[in-house]
Amino acid sequence: MSACTLVAPPAPPDPVDEEGTLDELVAALWTGLRGDRPVACLICGAEMSPEYGVHARAIGGHCSTCGASLH
Ligand SMILES: [Zn+2]
Repeated sequence: MSACTLVAPPAPPDPVDEEGTLDELVAALWTGLRGDRPVACLICGAEMSPEYGVHARAIGGHCSTCGASLH
């Protein structure tokens, strides 16, 4: 008997459903990243992980789903 465990991917965060300019979307992303919170990728809507530099503050974000990065 073989055990096959199917791990469901995490549910994507709610898509940004507000009308706004790209600048506002990016600003919202940065607010989330600097607050050390997961944010939704602008490209695919998946979760972007904060990237850190030498300081504790996030310097950008990276989407592991589509490879987009924000710096
Ligand atoms: Zn993405």
